[in-house]
Order: sequence, then C-alpha cells, then structure tokens
Amino acid sequence: MIRDILIDLDNTIFDFSAAEAVALRHVLTDIGIEPTEESIATYSRINKAQWERMERGEIVREVVLILRYEIFFREMGIDKDPAAAEKLYEKYLSIGHYYMPHAEEFLAAVKGKYRIYLATNGIKEIQNGRLKSAGLLDYFDGIFISSDFGVHKPSVAYFDECFARMENPDKEKTVIIGDSLSSDILGGKNAGIKTIYYNPKAVPNQTDLKPDFEVSDLCDILPILERI
Ligand SMILES: [Mg+2]
Repeated sequence: MIRDILIDLDNTIFDFSAAEAVALRHVLTDIGIEPTEESIATYSRINKAQWERMERGEIVREVVLILRYEIFFREMGIDKDPAAAEKLYEKYLSIGHYYMPHAEEFLAAVKGKYRIYLATNGIKEIQNGRLKSAGLLDYFDGIFISSDFGVHKPSVAYFDECFARMENPDKEKTVIIGDSLSSDILGGKNAGIKTIYYNPKAVPNQTDLKPDFEVSDLCDILPILERI
C-alpha cells in the first residue's frame, strides 16, 4: 500500500511545453523578433539538450539558463543579450499555468488518501508563481524544488533531502510519478523507491531503464496506487 507520492511538476501536472511556448512568444515579441513555429521549436530543442547536460552533471543550472539563449540566438543569427532574455522569460513563465490532461482530476482523487510531495527540478520563484496561479501552493504536503536544495533529480542527494523532509518514509511504500526517464525514473530507481512513468504520447522507451509501471493517462495511475 502506497503512503507517500513524489510527483514531478513540468509535463506531468503542468503542460510545460505550452507555458514555455507562450512565455517564449512574449520574450521574442518584447525584443523585437517575430515568434514563429520554427523559432519556438528550435528553442525547445536547445533548451531540452541543456537540461539533459545538467542531469548528466556536465553543467550547472545557472549555466543552463543563460546558455540556452546564447545558443538559440547564435543559431537564429540574432544579436541580443542572453541574460536579459532569460530574465524576461522567467517573468513571463511565472505567470499563468496550463494543466496536462486529467491532472486536476488526478490531484483531486489522491488528495487525503496519500501524502503528496512535489519533486521538481526548477527555479523556486517560477515554480512558486505558477503553483500560486493554479491555487496549488497549499495542496502539497511538501514542495521540493531543486534550486532550494542545491542538488537535483536524478541525484541520490536530491532524493535523500526529500526523504529527510518527509521524515524518512518507508521506501517500499513510496513512489515517484513523472514524465522523464532520465530524471524521475532514473532518480527513483537510484533512490530505491517505486517508479511510475507518465508517457502521454506513448513515446517508445529507447533506454535501458525499466519503470515499474508506465501509463499514458494520469487517471490510470489511480488503480496502480491501490494495488502496489
Ligand atoms: Mg517533467
């Protein structure tokens, strides 16, 4: 019987891709560049690659934030200040929220039945702004943002910090739910807890990582929680 749930935020509860696209459109417009499908897709690709480098321990978060704009501007042939763009982006990203399908239903269904903790690699100000706008700041039993810890998923140190704040839960009764094999699932496995991989687009898993469970709809998690 599961007692404690760690759940990822971006692209698990919130549709980060939608929020990112909206924020980026604002940034580009503000700095005088027309936002196009192509420019947004280019940014998303570069951004994802930099976060993956961070997950592998190659660069730190602060570098990711600026470097993604540096590379993006270089690829697009745009002469703008990456740090200023990042600042604007953070401002826009902290406003508004977009849910993944069935996220609100899922959160309502598990509330009160399990202890629910948010486990997110992100920036405190942005994540808090979005949680506040969604009315979710008081929903969780704990909010674990990597920028607060100085360590991030998938590192064992990040999960150890979570467990300490959860007052050392029984790992047999703890699960992590998330959309990322490289941070949520790998991290959960290394930390010795159960793993549920949320894969809404049913993208084939090309890695050696075997999540304990995989779902494409958040509501499909509910019966799994009941039986494990
Ligand atoms: Mg995620």
